Amino acid sequence: MTVAERLGRPEILALPPVDIAGAPVAGTIRLDANENPYPALVQGQAALNRYPDPQPADLTLRMADLYGVDPANLWVSRGSDDAIDLLIRAFCAAGRDSVAIVEPTFAAYAQFARIQGAKVTSIRLGDGFAFDADAVLRLAEAEQPKILFLCTPNNPTGTRIPEGAVEQLARALPDTLVVADEAYGEFDEAPSLAPVAGSIANLVVLRTLSKAYGLAGARIGCAIAAPDIIALLAKVSPPYPLPGPSIRAALDALGPERMPAHAERIRLILAERARVAAALADVAEIRSIREGGNFLFLEVDDPESLAKRLAAAAVRVRFRPNAAPGGVRISIGLPSENAALLAVFGVAAEACPGRRAEIVRDTKETRIVLAIDLDRPEPRSIDSGIAFYDHMLDQVAAHGGFALTLACSGDLNIDPHHSIEDVAITLGQGLKEALGEKRGIGRFGFALPMDETSAEVLIDLSGRPFVKFDGSFDSESVGGLPTQMVPHIFRSIADSLGAAIHVRVSGDNDHHKVEACFKAFGRALRQGLAIDGTSSALPSTKGML
Ligand code: PMP
Repeated sequence: MTVAERLGRPEILALPPVDIAGAPVAGTIRLDANENPYPALVQGQAALNRYPDPQPADLTLRMADLYGVDPANLWVSRGSDDAIDLLIRAFCAAGRDSVAIVEPTFAAYAQFARIQGAKVTSIRLGDGFAFDADAVLRLAEAEQPKILFLCTPNNPTGTRIPEGAVEQLARALPDTLVVADEAYGEFDEAPSLAPVAGSIANLVVLRTLSKAYGLAGARIGCAIAAPDIIALLAKVSPPYPLPGPSIRAALDALGPERMPAHAERIRLILAERARVAAALADVAEIRSIREGGNFLFLEVDDPESLAKRLAAAAVRVRFRPNAAPGGVRISIGLPSENAALLAVFGVAAEACPGRRAEIVRDTKETRIVLAIDLDRPEPRSIDSGIAFYDHMLDQVAAHGGFALTLACSGDLNIDPHHSIEDVAITLGQGLKEALGEKRGIGRFGFALPMDETSAEVLIDLSGRPFVKFDGSFDSESVGGLPTQMVPHIFRSIADSLGAAIHVRVSGDNDHHKVEACFKAFGRALRQGLAIDGTSSALPSTKGML
C-alpha cells in the first residue's frame, strides 16, 4: 500500500478525478471549456481568454531541474501556501485527524489545519529556539498526527534543523507525513531535502519562487514527494490553480540566463543581513539577534515602544509575541530601506553610494540579464555565449573597477551579431542606470600600450551619444568575435550609455588590438566612473549631464 493509500482521507481516495477541459491542444478547435473565443482586451496577454494548463509541463520540468528532482515527484502549486492547504485537505479529515507543529513557526500550518477542522498539536523549540528532534519524536508518537510540519530554516526564528534529523523523523514515523518547508532554503547553506523526498515514502518538501526568485506576486511554489502523494494533491487541487501570466512569469524568471543574477541577489541579501545584524549588535534594547532566510529575528525589551517608533518612521516589521514576548521579525530590504530601519534603533548606517543597476532585456533574438555595481570590484561573472567576448567584457569590468554579472541566451545558431550587439547595448544601459545623476564623477580617458599595440580611449559621460573609432583589423575575427563588430560594440555602448567614446588603436597583432581597446575602455571608464570624494558636483559647467 502506498503512503497516500494508507494515510490519505478515504473519501478523497474514492473521488473520481476532477472533470476539466484540460490544457489547450495546438491544432484542435476548443469548444469544450465555455471560454470566450475573443482574446482578452489586455495588451501582451495573448492566451488570457483560455483556461491555463493545470500543470504546465515546461514549468514542471524547469522546477524539477531547479530542485534536482524527477518531474513525476513535483506538483506546482499556487504558492507554497496552497501546497500546505492541499496537503491538509488531502490527509486530514475534519474532527478526526491532527497536524503537529514546532512553535514558534509559520502560522499557515495551524491556520489551514483549523480551517479544515483538524486538530493542532504542538511543542515549542528549546532554549535559544533550538530544535530538539527527540522531543518532536515523542510528541508525534504520542499524538500520531497525519502531518508533521517542519520549517527549515524556520520562520521566524531562523532555526536550522540539524542535518539528518528530518529524514530520521520521517523514517521513525511511518504513519505521519513529514513535511519539510524549505521556503528560505536558497538563503541557507544546508543541503535541500528535495532530492530525497521521492525516495522516502512519507517525506514531502515544499519550495517556493516567492523568496529567492522574487516572485511573491506570481504565487508559484511546489510540493515534492513520491508520485502517489502528488496524485492525491492533484485530486484536491482546484481545477486551474495557476494563472497563465504567473506561469509565464515563472518560466521567464527561471531562464538559465537569469540564474547568475539570482545568485548575486541572494549573495547581496545575505551580505545585507550580516551588515544589519552587525550594526544592531550593540543596541541595548535588543536582547538577541538571529539570522535566517532573508530576515532577522530580534528579541527586544520593550516591543510597545519599538512599535511606536517604527510606526513613526513608517517602517513595517512583524511582531511575534508568540515567539518571544518582544520577538520581532525583520525582512532584509534594500540598503536604503535597511538604513531607515537602523535609524529607528538610533544606528547611523554607513554611507553606501549604491550605484547599482539591474537590467532585463528580452527580445526574440536574445535574453539578457545584467547586474552592475560601480562601487564594488567584485563579483565579475560574464556569459555572453561567446568566450572571447566574455574575456573582453571581463577586461572592461576588471579595469573599470566595477562588479558585473551578465548572462545572455542568444540565437548564436544564426550568427553572433545579435548577442554581441545586444550585450553591448545592455552594458551601456546598465552603466547609465547605475550612474544615476552622475554626481561627483570624472569624465575622461586612458591610453595603453600592449606590446607593439597602442590603444587610447576617451570617454565623456555627457549624455550625448557619439562614437569615433580610428583603427582597422586585418583578420575577419578574433576568438570567434568578428572584428567588424568591435567598432559596433563601442557604438552600441555609446548609444545606450549616452556617452561620447573615441577609440584609437594601432599595431600589428589583431588579438592585441582588440584586447587593448577593451582594456583601455575599462581604464577610461574607471576614471570616468570614479567618485571624486571632495565634490558631489556635476562635472559640467552646464549643471546637467
Ligand atoms: N512557508 C514559509 C515558512 C513561509 O514563510 C511562507 C511565506 N511567508 C510560505 C511558506 C508561503 O510562501 P508562498 O505561498 O508565497 O510560496
